[in-house]
Amino acid sequence: MSRFFSNQHKELVPYTPGEQPTGRQYIKLNTNESPFPPSEKAIAYAAEAAKQLELYPDPTCGALHKAFAAQCGVSPDEVLMTNGSDEILHFAFLAFCDDRHPAAFADITYGFYSVFAKLQHVPYTLIPLREDFTIDPEDYVGLGKTIFLANPNAPTGIALPLEAVERIVRGNPNNVVVVDEAYVDFGAQSAIQLIHKYDNLLVTQTFSKSRSMAGARLGCGIGYKELIADLNTIKYSTNPYNINRMTMAAGLGVLEDEAYTRANCRKIMDTRLFTTQALRQLGFNVVDSMTNFVFAKADWIGGQALYEALKERGILVRHFETPRLKDYNRITIGTTDQMKALILAIEDCREGIK
Ligand code: PMP
Repeated sequence: MSRFFSNQHKELVPYTPGEQPTGRQYIKLNTNESPFPPSEKAIAYAAEAAKQLELYPDPTCGALHKAFAAQCGVSPDEVLMTNGSDEILHFAFLAFCDDRHPAAFADITYGFYSVFAKLQHVPYTLIPLREDFTIDPEDYVGLGKTIFLANPNAPTGIALPLEAVERIVRGNPNNVVVVDEAYVDFGAQSAIQLIHKYDNLLVTQTFSKSRSMAGARLGCGIGYKELIADLNTIKYSTNPYNINRMTMAAGLGVLEDEAYTRANCRKIMDTRLFTTQALRQLGFNVVDSMTNFVFAKADWIGGQALYEALKERGILVRHFETPRLKDYNRITIGTTDQMKALILAIEDCREGIK
């Protein structure tokens, strides 16, 4: 730390992203990326856009807002595209949280929420998940706080039904409820259809998972137009050109190629079923997932030991050190061949232990 670092941030412990190895080639099942390449349209549009990199991009992101809004069945002033969904979540903390509007979220959820809260010195409450990692919606009713709800949740993969999400939104009419739908496309129900009913609902989504665009950084918020106007105030006060030309063009390409996205989601869901069944046969407890990852623990090997044994065998998964999670690993669903390689590697570990 330099002697110039602001006192405000001296205690800050930043978010730790999953490993992005640059040397050895691993089967990467650790950061919930798509195993499929981006849509060919996205690649072609981005390449064309690269020819005009000398010019700033459209700060209003007009064409992309229009196309995405049409796909969601909302109007363009009800959406805001951002640099990954991490940026819309950051904007939401800046716009809707302060001393009078503290934050609340589950004790086990996306790790960035507590980092954003600490960055801005927003007080926050952690709401414990039940023993089986599910959320009790009643814990969130009448909280008087800005709520951040990952649905489906991470790293558990468990989804709340739409009625439960609505109960939480309806139960907090004077507070914003942010529903983070990063993983919604793998079988869960989206709350977008509720945004015209509740002026306190902000839904966030990402192009990083189902749309194979993690490297381009594109996320979005969908909500009542006054909420979006507030988020725009934050955007134009931090980074008006938050979406670069190539990402904007790629985003349009992928939206025009919705059939490709849907086909990939279907493949991931099929492979998730295969992986869950194979892991269960190997003695794993696998949480029922509605995402592109599974959360699993075995009684014959610890979480850290499995992580290390797989890494030695060229497979990366995500392990968390916290007390309730340390026995588990979060395993991204890759291609069927990648998941077969995972199962073989786990069988090999088990042979070594016998
Ligand atoms: N929300 C959740 C629950 C996530 O797991 C992630 C990805 N790690 C994000 C948001 C952010 O994703 P991105 O910034 O790539 O859109």
